[in-house]
Amino acid sequence: DLQDRKLLAEEEQPVELSKTDLTPVIPSFAQYLIIGGGTAALSAFKSIRAHDATAKVLVISSEKYYPYMRPPLSKDVWYTDDDNLLNQYMFKQWNGQEKSLFVFDNEFYADVKTLNDEENGGVGVVLGRKVVNLDLKTSVAKLDNGWEISFEKCLIATGGQPKSLKVFQTASNRLKSKLTLYRGIDDFFALKKVVDSGADVTIIGGGFLGSELACSLAHRATENGKRGNPNGKITQLMPEAGNISKVLPEYLSKWATERVRDEGADVLTNVELVGASVVQDGKVSLSYIDPQNPKKTSYITSDHVVVAVGIEPNTDLAKSAGLEVDPDQGGFLVNAELQARHNVWVAGDAASFYDINLGRRRVEHYDHAIVSGKLAGENMTGAHKPYWHQSTFWSDLGPKVGFEAIGLTDSQLQTVAVYAKGKPTDEEQKRDSEGNREQQDVAPEATANDLKHKLPESKGNLDKDDYSKGVVFYLKENKVVGIVLWNVFNRIAIARKIIKDQQEITNFQELAKLFNIHQD
Ligand code: FAD
Ligand code: NAD
Ligand code: NAD
Repeated sequence: DLQDRKLLAEEEQPVELSKTDLTPVIPSFAQYLIIGGGTAALSAFKSIRAHDATAKVLVISSEKYYPYMRPPLSKDVWYTDDDNLLNQYMFKQWNGQEKSLFVFDNEFYADVKTLNDEENGGVGVVLGRKVVNLDLKTSVAKLDNGWEISFEKCLIATGGQPKSLKVFQTASNRLKSKLTLYRGIDDFFALKKVVDSGADVTIIGGGFLGSELACSLAHRATENGKRGNPNGKITQLMPEAGNISKVLPEYLSKWATERVRDEGADVLTNVELVGASVVQDGKVSLSYIDPQNPKKTSYITSDHVVVAVGIEPNTDLAKSAGLEVDPDQGGFLVNAELQARHNVWVAGDAASFYDINLGRRRVEHYDHAIVSGKLAGENMTGAHKPYWHQSTFWSDLGPKVGFEAIGLTDSQLQTVAVYAKGKPTDEEQKRDSEGNREQQDVAPEATANDLKHKLPESKGNLDKDDYSKGVVFYLKENKVVGIVLWNVFNRIAIARKIIKDQQEITNFQELAKLFNIHQD
């Protein structure tokens, strides 16, 4: 049957695999099986190997690439002006430092065929294969080509996939060919081609992805224009009053929208999308209700549309496995040890977990995938630790505006914010000082995080509606449950401690002083 499998795999070899080849034979047993090959999976296998030195970890990934970072795909890659670098899956960070999208070189990974014979174990990844059935009575996972793998312990790290909208559900193939649901490496290269052709692109959605892409695409289009290449118009439309409004308080969200416009995108807020069609010249026409003019339908035409309206956690396996899905926020329900059954754990975007400080949560961010993958991995090796280390997240609206956050940062919660005084209102002055700042900041061993451009502060009295820099506290019963550090960097440890302490707070000015936001 080994021979059969080999033949089967050879027959099925996909033609366009570029980065790596499909592995022809896989073991029929896994000591540690990981379903999914994203960030949570990567963090988990590192953790398993750190706690069980000879562990044999088999990863099944439906993608054709080894684990890579998604965050640069809506930011840094679009600001990387060197196509040769991009074609090697590399990008430039904000500070100019070059970095690979891949966390480990291909050489890091063991050959899955011989993984189980390796004395010191290792991590093998099967690419381009999906687990379609999980039988927890027999502890067997079944792949989309019929292969079966029995396992001792299993981690589900299946992440999520982009949702679409009703107006596109019945779309013709012609219309579908002009839509992008953005999640991975191939989506970047496909969309880059569209942008570089000078196409007008409309982005639907005002969340993290839509907002970051609006800045990034507008930047790339502008740069294309400066080089005398075709440059299209980038438009973002959203039902909310401003960008990233699930997190940012309304005034700050509206302020952020102005910054997205500064990057060159046209942003339409409070807009309800009602229809989509391909019109005669091959363009996509989106119809929407504009609150300024609610009685009649408005239209916007573009060459291409990016739909960024959130993700659906991948919980298809719940049915065959008999696992419970969180009816409110989606995701597999797990306890504080990230465990669904005695030998099954879940981490990353797909987990609805119990945070012993802040209650039940599902978090769709990179560092959460790292933190939860790490914990699940350790628990898979026999630890019984609960989730207690708060993960963080960040977002960048171009190189000039960014924030880091921790805890529950839902804009529906009561917020109190403290801002540092002013910034230069003159754009040119701002650019110059940022340039200087960037020079000063360059240090080889620092992370992107340390080196993010910071808005310079001016000593003068400036506009009261200037929110260029500050700290936002999110409250429940006068206790801080979440913090956004708005254009303030490298202070997340202080924020983490405040949330952990769970003290009742009365003086926020004093609390804000801990962050030293008036000096950098
Ligand atoms: P994923 O990374 O989605 O990995 C899941 C993997 O499982 C995928 O490879 C999928 O193909 C595979 N899979 C699914 N089902 C199966 C199956 N049945 N069998 C086999 N394989 C399967 N977060 C931040 O905090 N900051 C950012 O700046 C940021 N930027 C982002 C930018 C982009 C463009 C995107 C898309 C996301 C960004 N995020 C960011 C979110 C962050 O990347 C995710 O939260 C993180 O990737 C979640 O990790 P995960 O491992 O749970 O899921
Ligand atoms: P980084 O190397 O500092 O790593 C970021 C996260 O990945 C950290 O949580 C780290 O623990 C984890 N990590 C790093 N290497 C890992 C590995 N081998 N295995 C498992 N986990 C690992 O990343 P970076 O160089 O700062 O940035 C890379 C990209 O992510 C850039 O797009 C950058 O903008 C973005 N990023 C930004 C911030 C920020 O601005 N606060 C933080 C992290 C990453
Ligand atoms: P999101 O959940 O951040 O935002 C969803 C957005 O969809 C809403 O803000 C809304 O504007 C829009 N939307 C919902 N229904 C709509 C409708 N009917 N019509 C028009 N718009 C509608 O999700 P996302 O922005 O699509 O991001 C995808 C995933 O990637 C998320 O998991 C996100 O957390 C992650 N991501 C994170 C970062 C970051 O942390 N910096 C960056 C990029 C992507």
